Amino acid sequence: MLVSLTSTTPDATDLGFLLHKHPDRVRSVDVGFGQAHVFYPEATAQRCTATLFVEVDPVALARGRNRPQSAGLEPYVNDRPYAASSMLSVALARLFRTAMSGTCDARPELVEQSLDLEVDLPVVPVRGGEHVLRRLFEPLGYAVEAVPIALDAQFTSWGASPYFAVRLSGRHTVRRALEHLYVLLPVLDDRKHYWIGQEEIDKLLRRGGDWVGSHPEAKMISRRYLRFGGFAREALSRLAEPDEHGDAAVEHHDGLEQTLERPLKLSEQRLDAVTEAVRALGGGRVVDLGCGEGRLLERLVAEPAVTDVLGIDVSIAALQRAQRRLGLDELSERRRERIALQQGALTYADPSVCGFDVATMVEVIEHVDAERLDVLAEVVFGHAAPTAVVLTTPNREYNANFEHLSPNGLRHGDHRFEWNREEFAEWAGGILDQFGYRFEISGIGPQDPVCGTPTQMAIFRR
Ligand code: SAH
Repeated sequence: MLVSLTSTTPDATDLGFLLHKHPDRVRSVDVGFGQAHVFYPEATAQRCTATLFVEVDPVALARGRNRPQSAGLEPYVNDRPYAASSMLSVALARLFRTAMSGTCDARPELVEQSLDLEVDLPVVPVRGGEHVLRRLFEPLGYAVEAVPIALDAQFTSWGASPYFAVRLSGRHTVRRALEHLYVLLPVLDDRKHYWIGQEEIDKLLRRGGDWVGSHPEAKMISRRYLRFGGFAREALSRLAEPDEHGDAAVEHHDGLEQTLERPLKLSEQRLDAVTEAVRALGGGRVVDLGCGEGRLLERLVAEPAVTDVLGIDVSIAALQRAQRRLGLDELSERRRERIALQQGALTYADPSVCGFDVATMVEVIEHVDAERLDVLAEVVFGHAAPTAVVLTTPNREYNANFEHLSPNGLRHGDHRFEWNREEFAEWAGGILDQFGYRFEISGIGPQDPVCGTPTQMAIFRR
């Protein structure tokens, strides 16, 4: 993996003083997961480039104590040696520690000087696609050029990979530009910080910089930044889950997903289809898991066959909006007895979700980390165990029809995944095997002959 930083402000070789690395020499250090080298492919008064090249040792990764707990080949065959990730951040901090702390003994006056800088990153994994890249760097004053990298140059029909070749140009102090990269590379990659230990993560956290708080995407940055394996992530999700997901819910209703889906009136069609399914199942007591601001609840209470409804969501902010939407404060006593809202997470067993006839889960499952899906299935199908479950989720194949979505982009920044039809059917098959729920899958929205419908719906019956 590789990153180059170029100054075009004369005398451009001042960059050598700022980085504490002499343009004539190569500097190499051991960074634990491999060797990192700094060298200057070009050093003139007009243009000076420092390149940080990290040679990752794949065998050391597979054997290291922080390796992912996955079986199979993944620990040996993965993108980590090639793609800019939290490992590159660690290498940046290791090699440019002094520059990042804002020290330049030889030329102290340079530290606060903004330079015309270019950053070249030949391979950057960008979860969420090009618009995420732009949303992160453009507010910081960078011009962003991003060229999608084909999955395989020989088989262009396979389409684009999730990687981009990225060039950022902007006027910043060197220290600030390094800080931007340091924080935002792991945010773009948005994977668990495999192979990076607790100590490094603590350091990553401390380096936030004072610009993060005022960044328009501060929420996304912190949410993605904190995506650690096990330890910190778990602690944080317990402490901060309501707010984190509350923000996610706000994004959900203002964001890309809505822009993409609005012309299809997809959200209306989805709510109609789910309401119809609940009616066909005979109504009764219904719990809406991940109810958001209560748009489905509003329809369900109007159904004569539905005797009462409970809305569950992890986000307090969403529940407050639901409360207002449903006019819970003004409802007559009789109606109010039929509706309740309660905060709860679908990854924790809660007795108040037991004993329902129908559970609905509309566009929620894709917000849950893939590695927590087993726990969610256990909570919903094993513990709550309603007679029937109506669940909807995007069909990723249909994304090809959204011209504003980059190839392999997801419809929403908080989506942890989007399933194609086969993956959804496979997951549903697992629910049948494990919990004995039969299921039928159908589509919602316009049918594309190749890609299917934008939304997929499964109805499970015990
Ligand atoms: N069903 C609603 C909202 C979908 S947005 C609708 O269709 O309009 C996804 C919702 O799931 C958000 O409100 C979010 O707060 C909630 N959510 C995400 N993860 C959750 C979890 N683990 N437990 C409970 N709710 C969750």
